[in-house]
Amino acid sequence: MRLKYLIVGAGPTGLGAGWRLRELGEDSFLILEKNSHVGGLAASFTDAAGFTWDIGGHVVFSHFPYFDRLLDDLLSGDYLEHQRQAFIRVAGTWTPYPFQNNIRHLPRELAWECVRGLLPANRCRFERPCGDAFAPADFREWIDYVFGEGIAKIFMYPYNFKVWATPPERMSSTWIGERVSVVSLERVLKNIILGLDDVSFGPNNVFKFPLRGGTGEIFRRLAARLTGKIATGQAAAVIDPLAKTLVTESGETFAYDNLLFTGPLDLLAAKIVRGAPDAVREAAGLLEHNGALIAGVGLAGGAIDPKCWMYFPEDNCPFYRVTNFHNYSPNNVPAAGQRALMTEVSFSAHKPEDRASHFDRVTGGLTACGLLKDHEQQSVVSRWETAVDYAYPIPTLRRDAALATIQPWLEAHGVFGRGRFGGFKYEAGNMDHSVMQGVEWAQRMIAGTPETVYTLS
Ligand SMILES: Cc1cc2nc3c(=O)[nH]c(=O)nc-3n(C[C@H](O)[C@H](O)[C@H](O)COP(=O)(O)OP(=O)(O)OC[C@H]3O[C@@H](n4cnc5c(N)ncnc54)[C@H](O)[C@@H]3O)c2cc1C
Repeated sequence: MRLKYLIVGAGPTGLGAGWRLRELGEDSFLILEKNSHVGGLAASFTDAAGFTWDIGGHVVFSHFPYFDRLLDDLLSGDYLEHQRQAFIRVAGTWTPYPFQNNIRHLPRELAWECVRGLLPANRCRFERPCGDAFAPADFREWIDYVFGEGIAKIFMYPYNFKVWATPPERMSSTWIGERVSVVSLERVLKNIILGLDDVSFGPNNVFKFPLRGGTGEIFRRLAARLTGKIATGQAAAVIDPLAKTLVTESGETFAYDNLLFTGPLDLLAAKIVRGAPDAVREAAGLLEHNGALIAGVGLAGGAIDPKCWMYFPEDNCPFYRVTNFHNYSPNNVPAAGQRALMTEVSFSAHKPEDRASHFDRVTGGLTACGLLKDHEQQSVVSRWETAVDYAYPIPTLRRDAALATIQPWLEAHGVFGRGRFGGFKYEAGNMDHSVMQGVEWAQRMIAGTPETVYTLS
């Protein structure tokens, strides 16, 4: 079969691309998906007991009018809107997110440690002559510079290692942008002294969630608009960029003019594409990612609290985040009053995790953190688990140089890596970014419109 546009992956990026090609009147395209379902990392699953789970807590928020319109059109009113209620568990207390603005909730000794780290006297090492701004060399230095020693020690180091499974000195700080609320000593002191809570930071302050089917419902509905254009159970195995052919694991061959690849870029450049120069293959080896173990603990009942999700920097539990998924939609649980606790544990070579004991360690951690009472162990009515080998693309110090080697070579051969792992840029790797990367790729292919969401600068 010969196609003008061949798309690998029916996650948000691939579906966004297919949808935009169709909107622009292009019919010569096909999406190949290795799984039997669509949605990629943004898929959702309903277990045998009737609980619905995402692959870790997904919150839809958007920076893009096109994405907003598409979301509204797809859900056509079948969604709920929630005010974010996020908390951090430290020293047996719940501190509202963002941590640094709400440290008055900590035990006094810890609150003082946080403030002390922000005092000008403890920040001299960041002063530069002539008022030049301090330029952090890596993520660890950025944490020290922005948060001071106390917040770094109590929250930022342990939490970030739990999420990224990567030492912060291996990571750059250039990806941060709006993602981390930075600290004003004045605001910190004001909130402590006046007893104020300050919880409004960030882009996901209010979020929409599908009424039924979890986050994945969005992409099931998008896929339903592309009937006949998605081939599931088809894994791309070999791409010959000179012959412009793709061979699947089952041995089928497709010819194409341009190819969008939304699976992991390191696998594409090092294993799937034939004939890549050594420099490209070596650069692929520099891209780092972590994986995630997700557990869903379905409970017959228990006290329902209004929190949406919670962060866990301490080592009394394996997870970095727990989502009260029952609060996102009543349809995420089979019966009223039931609870759906969804946990996320990262892993990597720097942070190996034993999979066999994962679920038991999760329930132990939930008990240690007060989310599961001892007597509630008997009310666990569902145990759901999944593992993803590619969860977070790590913004390492060497990432940008690697991308600058890989992507131009691929593009010169009509192969485009886009999306969370196809583009490998965490800061442009959420669902809205991913859909838009697909949309913009389609616009570039059809009309030559420059991309703005995925760039190498
Ligand atoms: C734990 C976690 C929490 C998250 N939370 C949020 C959140 O709160 N908000 C948010 O906006 N985003 C969140 N995300 C990110 C969101 O999941 C991604 O933005 C989105 O799924 C990326 O879409 P994609 O299409 O680029 O990639 P993917 O979702 O990875 O889809 C790629 C698709 O390609 C397929 N594929 C790969 N290789 C091949 C091959 N060789 N042949 C055929 N098919 C192939 C895969 O099976 C997959 O279906 C989270 C992600 C994780 C892991």
